[in-house]
Amino acid sequence: MGETYLVDDHYGQAEMPPVRRGTIARVSYVADLHIHSPYAISTSRDLSLENLAVWAKLKGIDLLATGDFTHPVWANEIRTKLTDSGDGLFSLDGVKFVLGTELNCNGRQDGRSRRIHTLVFAPDLGAMDRIGKAMAGSGASLAGDGRPTVHMTPRELVETLMEIDDRCIVIPAHAWTPWFGVYGSKSGFDSLEECFGDMLDHVAGIETGLSSDPAMCWTVPELDDKALLSFSDAHSLPKMSRELTVFNGEPSYEGLVKAMAEQDIAYTVEFFPEEGKYHYSGHRKCGVSYSPDDVARYGRVCPSCARRMTLGVMQRVAEVGARPVETYVDEQGLTRADNGRPPFRSLVSLQQILSEAMGFGVNTKRVQGAYHELVKACGAELTVLLEAPTDDLASAVPQHGERIVEGIAKVRAGDIFVEPGFDGQFGKVQVWPDEMAAPRRPLAQSRMEL
Ligand SMILES: [Zn+2]
Ligand SMILES: [Zn+2]
Repeated sequence: MGETYLVDDHYGQAEMPPVRRGTIARVSYVADLHIHSPYAISTSRDLSLENLAVWAKLKGIDLLATGDFTHPVWANEIRTKLTDSGDGLFSLDGVKFVLGTELNCNGRQDGRSRRIHTLVFAPDLGAMDRIGKAMAGSGASLAGDGRPTVHMTPRELVETLMEIDDRCIVIPAHAWTPWFGVYGSKSGFDSLEECFGDMLDHVAGIETGLSSDPAMCWTVPELDDKALLSFSDAHSLPKMSRELTVFNGEPSYEGLVKAMAEQDIAYTVEFFPEEGKYHYSGHRKCGVSYSPDDVARYGRVCPSCARRMTLGVMQRVAEVGARPVETYVDEQGLTRADNGRPPFRSLVSLQQILSEAMGFGVNTKRVQGAYHELVKACGAELTVLLEAPTDDLASAVPQHGERIVEGIAKVRAGDIFVEPGFDGQFGKVQVWPDEMAAPRRPLAQSRMEL
């Protein structure tokens, strides 16, 4: 079954509106570098390269990762469908791509079994092929999963990649999540140093992940010289761009390496971290959710079933972080600290704002219709959310215009309600509290909720 949100009903590729994105396009480029193909486990079949390009334009993304490049079928599509730009990037229908994938490092280190997801980028097709061969050689089943399990530690992975081509980029993915995060409570480490050892200099940055934001990472001294990156980890097309990094400088492979090394980043776009699935500690089955303060007072054992709780991202940040950081929001709505680090802004997806404003489910025709009207009028979702004048927004959707404009203004101002997620349960973010939201019709549940 294909999802119903493909754009055909609204406008075909040929009639895509021109992207006008004010200041963003001139000095920097918008990148989503954690993407999957239909060949990774539990991802949408609609994730073709063509659809990724269509949705990148809807969202306002300039540079996408291909995702899953060790998968033989997907690698073949990359080779045949994308055009080599000669600068380490590739293109399709005006959207740039970088060769990127996610690998699950599964190896024993210091007497414990570790499972760490890492994002890996290759400078050219030759390096991409050699990485595939090396991973297959280590026993990975490349055809079985677009995000294959490789039987080596993250340190061994970095060493292998540097031998293949020292321009390869390695970034621990969703660094704080309990499972698969480099700092995760279940199978992670207490420091990058402990994980990567003498290979640490080759690690360009970390992906902060949905449950954390840069401010939380600013408390960790060993991250001072690492780029803090945010990407969507989308398993379906509409989830693309839910987190993004806006890099400064030349959009080329070399430019990307440089921007990461120098932290030359305009800003990142973040989930409200409370919305992530592992923000607080807790036990999903028992309905128990603990903040770090609660853990300090009541301990790590679930009061309902007496088992150990899943320790969330906030708890790990409290354990690993070593200094308080004071943040403020500047006149552009960017969250900063006086530490010279790139700022960030937290957003809610446009489809969710529309759903709440209109009182219909995200996947309903009305919400999808309004989404495409707004994007068409303003050029891209990111423009709608960040910078489109309210008059433009209101005239694009006459029916619920006022309410929708109010919702977007509230998100821009950070004036929303959040209930933290825990132990695999997404947090709840609401633009309006329940009593003020439009009455709800039953939601058509998306089968691809990540
Ligand atoms: Zn992952
Ligand atoms: Zn329990």
